[in-house]
Amino acid sequence: MKLALLSRAPQAYSTQRLVAAAEQRGHRVRVLNTLRFAIDLAGEEPDLQYRGKQLSDYDAVLPRIGNSITYFGTAVVRQFEQMDVYTPNTANGISNARDKLRAIQILSRHNIDMPATAFVRNRADVRPAIESVGGAPVVIKLLEGTQGIGVILAPQVKVAEAIIETLHSTRQNVLIQRFISESRGRDIRALVVGDRVVAAMRRIASGDEFRSNVHRGGTVEAVQLDSAYEQVAVRAAQIMGLRVAGVDMLEGEDGPLVMEVNSSPGLQGIETATGLDVAGAIVDFIANQVNFPEIDVRQR
Ligand code: ADP
Repeated sequence: MKLALLSRAPQAYSTQRLVAAAEQRGHRVRVLNTLRFAIDLAGEEPDLQYRGKQLSDYDAVLPRIGNSITYFGTAVVRQFEQMDVYTPNTANGISNARDKLRAIQILSRHNIDMPATAFVRNRADVRPAIESVGGAPVVIKLLEGTQGIGVILAPQVKVAEAIIETLHSTRQNVLIQRFISESRGRDIRALVVGDRVVAAMRRIASGDEFRSNVHRGGTVEAVQLDSAYEQVAVRAAQIMGLRVAGVDMLEGEDGPLVMEVNSSPGLQGIETATGLDVAGAIVDFIANQVNFPEIDVRQR
């Protein structure tokens, strides 16, 4: 197949691994800078220009869209979809996953267990919201946060109220979430490709930190997931419309609690922790879809 990899980071580990995996399997692959496309809406047929020239034919596209360019990036992916180029992650799937609140709203309608979460704006509604998710200690999350920045554990209701009011006063949207103490600074990242988990790792926070992000000093270990965790991860990805996804889960008392579904999961941490060829699994899945497409209305 001829595969386009949308990325602004040709040198990044994930990009290089995907290119190597594709070439190793005899596919043609190009890394295309997402921001160098021009969406041409003038003609009768949907079209794309790349670096000022008509884009050649591709069988599939794998979008790796950074947080800072979600709007333009998803517009490019949507254009590929309109040109009938296969993508494992649709523009809708990427947009849904990017918005933490929208993702939680969608998943909660499909009976995916998540930490109890509330979203309010008026001062009068803050305290009842904190109580509704179980009171203090309570987790406060900036909607725009990544890598654990903007995720705060407030020990008391009064402190939580003060933090939330301060954030509201600077026009920031925040989620109020039950603190899952039994997860003890650990979480699970499951890498979903198609309808299976191809690799999984546990991230462990350092010291008394409750956030397990590697950027916050967390460490990782390979983990063999129970089928309950695997099933929830695959379902969450499918509900979001993503065939390649990193699903983050907390280990709750009664099983997995989904926190987030990532549409451009990094490969370095998980390949290093598990020794598995995740890039190869992604490329094989796409090649299979191009040759033998699944009957799946969500992709049409
Ligand atoms: P980001 O998208 O910035 O990584 P997350 O929502 O994934 O933010 O939170 C960062 C980390 O904080 C998680 O990996 C997890 O270890 C911890 N965490 C997040 N939410 C909760 C929660 N409700 N209860 C306990 N720990 C949490």
